[in-house]
Amino acid sequence: MSLAVENSPVEPLALVVGAGQCVPVVQGGQVRYVNLDYAASAPALDSVVAQVNQTLPLYASVHRGAGYASLACTAAYEQARAEVAAFLGARPDDVVVFTRNTTDALNMLASAVPGPVIHLDTEHHANLLPWQGRGGRVVTAQATLAGTMAAIEAELARSPAALLTVTGASNVTGECLPLAELAALAHARGARLAVDGAQLVPHRAVDMAATGIDYLALSGHKLYAPFGIGVLAGPRDWLDAAPPHLAGGGAVRAVTPQTVSWADSPARHEGGTPNLLGAVALAAACRELAPLLPGPVTAHEQELTRRLRSGLAELGGTRHALWPDAGESVGIVSFTLPGVEPGLLAAYLSAEHGIGVRDGRFCAHPLFARLGVTSAVRASVGLGSRSEDIDRLLGALEEFLVTGPRWHYAGPDGGWSPFPDTRVLTTQL
Ligand code: PMP
Repeated sequence: MSLAVENSPVEPLALVVGAGQCVPVVQGGQVRYVNLDYAASAPALDSVVAQVNQTLPLYASVHRGAGYASLACTAAYEQARAEVAAFLGARPDDVVVFTRNTTDALNMLASAVPGPVIHLDTEHHANLLPWQGRGGRVVTAQATLAGTMAAIEAELARSPAALLTVTGASNVTGECLPLAELAALAHARGARLAVDGAQLVPHRAVDMAATGIDYLALSGHKLYAPFGIGVLAGPRDWLDAAPPHLAGGGAVRAVTPQTVSWADSPARHEGGTPNLLGAVALAAACRELAPLLPGPVTAHEQELTRRLRSGLAELGGTRHALWPDAGESVGIVSFTLPGVEPGLLAAYLSAEHGIGVRDGRFCAHPLFARLGVTSAVRASVGLGSRSEDIDRLLGALEEFLVTGPRWHYAGPDGGWSPFPDTRVLTTQL
């Protein structure tokens, strides 16, 4: 077996921290780390870290101080909010609430929805579990996207719902949903559309107003700003009627020992000291991404995934997807090789080749049940990815199939791991 050699190298689109980082391999020595796990958490952009470093000398409390540094930090925090709103194409009267991550944002929305919620059975757990026990109505994903859209439409027509909530791009298959069409379907029945944008926003330009997305949730750590920040953006009426996400300082207008008058959003849901560094980091990432998203990012990741898909096909691998008629996918590919345990493969790629992928069911158990596989390996790309990363992965997969692993692996109980694992995990992080 020998894979066809691809020409025309694909280079990174932006500078990320840790590019060129070397890591140990079990057989001894070090290799350049190949990060094919952007979908889990993306590395910080250089520009994001520069922004954080620029903010640190004046770091102080937000909305809580008379000192110059506090005033400057408050202004920076609110400017970041405005920049994120513009990046997402939010309507002028939408509110942007800073959260911890997508999970936090969707849980906040769940506490604010005033009626039944419709969602697919194949959602990521973050867009599934908040609705369980809260009037969630499950639509079964069909064998085609067209059939799935029809099933959603039928459920919207069957009985009134307050919200339709969908994942913009799947963290398992990369498949995207036609959001403008879904918005039109929901709005025609008086429902709003919420989008779990965790995997979509890092890969595609999203314009909430133009698309008709009412609520959008995202995570900074998947958007090259890993400083503990997330976002829920959308109309303020439900959010202002909801109980505060966290009861505490900053979320109030007035308090007596027995009573409280809560502030409006976003302060209402940002109790406690806000995450200034997360907010300015996220705004910096939005600034760098905005000009790249409409074209270059799509072209970059399509070329990388085309290369990966064709290499996998040559190796007899299976790429997992829900819908043959799915319009487009972001740079996420979940696959299995015939007869190969995904956990073993992921451990081997890490231990012998310094390649980081994820294996398992990626917090999407019902989706895996639908795909009919118990687990898979996921390779995902981003701004710092290059064709050499894909070639390294394909070469390592080919080696596994031809000669097998060179090391011993313990498992599967407790997870696959090299035995012995000679790599010293650095504690100086
Ligand atoms: N939705 C999707 C589609 C995701 O991929 C993830 C992260 N795996 C989440 C939601 C949850 O994101 P977070 O862990 O940052 O809350």
